[in-house]
Amino acid sequence: MSGLGKGITAASIGRILKNRGYGVTAVKIDPYLNIDAGTMNPGQHGEVFVLSDGGEVDLDLGNYERFLDIDLTSDHNITTGKIYRSVIEKERKGEYLGETVQIIPHITDEIKSCIRAAAHDATSGNGQADICLVEVGGTVGDIESMPFLEAVRQMRGELPDEDTLLIHVTLFPEDSMGDLKTKPTQHSVKALRELGLHADIIVGRGERPIGSQTKRKISAFCDLAQQGVISAATVPDIYQVPMEMEKEGIAEVLFQYLRLEPREADTRWYSLVSREYTNRVHVGIVSKYGVEDVYISIKEALKHAGRALSTEVKISWLDAERYEEPQLAEFDGILIPGGFGQRGLEGKIGALGYARTRRIPLLGLCLGFQLSVVEFSRNVLGWKDAISAEMGEGRHVIAILPEQEGVTDLGGTMRLGNYPVTLRENTLAMKIYGQKEIVERHRHRYEVNPEYIAEIEEGGMVFSGTWRNRMEICEIPDHPFFLATQFHPEFRSRPTRPSPPFMGFVDACRTRRSRR
Ligand code: GLN
Repeated sequence: MSGLGKGITAASIGRILKNRGYGVTAVKIDPYLNIDAGTMNPGQHGEVFVLSDGGEVDLDLGNYERFLDIDLTSDHNITTGKIYRSVIEKERKGEYLGETVQIIPHITDEIKSCIRAAAHDATSGNGQADICLVEVGGTVGDIESMPFLEAVRQMRGELPDEDTLLIHVTLFPEDSMGDLKTKPTQHSVKALRELGLHADIIVGRGERPIGSQTKRKISAFCDLAQQGVISAATVPDIYQVPMEMEKEGIAEVLFQYLRLEPREADTRWYSLVSREYTNRVHVGIVSKYGVEDVYISIKEALKHAGRALSTEVKISWLDAERYEEPQLAEFDGILIPGGFGQRGLEGKIGALGYARTRRIPLLGLCLGFQLSVVEFSRNVLGWKDAISAEMGEGRHVIAILPEQEGVTDLGGTMRLGNYPVTLRENTLAMKIYGQKEIVERHRHRYEVNPEYIAEIEEGGMVFSGTWRNRMEICEIPDHPFFLATQFHPEFRSRPTRPSPPFMGFVDACRTRRSRR
């Protein structure tokens, strides 16, 4: 079921193999009819992750990129919508001429060929993978996931035994006596079996580790070797999961079943993600969403930077519509994330003004960048009616991108993915990136209105990153750290390569903390 940790489980297994020198890639299957996650409400489905090719995809791809340190493409997120679209397009072209087009074999064939194509995809400099992880979202027994599980069944039959491995992730709830219950697992294994699928490994998720007695029980009931029952109790930090699974001996099971040459693990990644903290900072994020899942990549990017600086980053989520300004003074830094629509707008602008005037480190991302310009226009330049064209009438210091004018379809039509940005010498941006030309991921429809750029700069705001006439980074000089970006640096942050704006921000938070 969703929210169980299938994505982290798959990513961790990938990491375990990658630490042994195997090339690993990953595919996420989302059994919904949307073509991609772009138009879905992040408050319900979690963050929309943006890939370098501009794909707006499920947040699990973010976990794969971070755990495996690879760049994925849109083709690595398969949805029911994409599969049906492609089959229907082929039908219209006459590719199935004479045939009755059906779920089996046409939809299942399409699923298999998409999985194969993604597995063999050696783009983005990842090289050819030895192993492809395929995460099937949803719950066994759901109507939506049936064609995907059937495709998996067929694929397992077509390939040699050692070329596929089925891992089933299940929940082990606790009863009032504190005992772990195996019934849900027994039932879902039965449901899988009815579909012709037999699990080789069961990863048991619960608040507590699964003991050997329970493992024995699962092994007997579910017809698999006891070593194939892997306990995966909740841990405080997701990056510990691969290490925990290593202790369960999963690597040996993988070697045996996939007939891989057993190799010693390179443990550098483990040392990196378990580095000790010597400092601590407290960051406030002002958002209109009640769920943290909306900003997973921001949370992770703060963690990556924090680890690199041996600083634990504690995050408080402030409701943009309800927080009180004096609350902000207690933070070592304030972050205004991306977003869409009017709700919580004035709260975010208020927080930006507070950070600017009280000299609190500030990082603004996308909408946070646009609102930094709005706040500055209102309160420094005195343009009281300054606003973004997305939000209403007034002086539009933020205007629609010219190429977006007349765009009516909402799916996949924003300015998306990788674009270059040129940095200006002697600026904070240049200092934190240490190079003049950078590339970052984007997802926006609006930009700083070119008509006002000169006046805003004369007023003292510096646009330190640009792409042609497009403003990409703004900063306030004579401030400990005030930097906002039109792009989303959080999507490129990795444990091994923390994002420069996040490094600069956490470092500034640390300085503020030490001075207090
Ligand atoms: N809503 C703004 C735009 O479309 C900002 C988007 C974002 O924060 N991702 O430009």
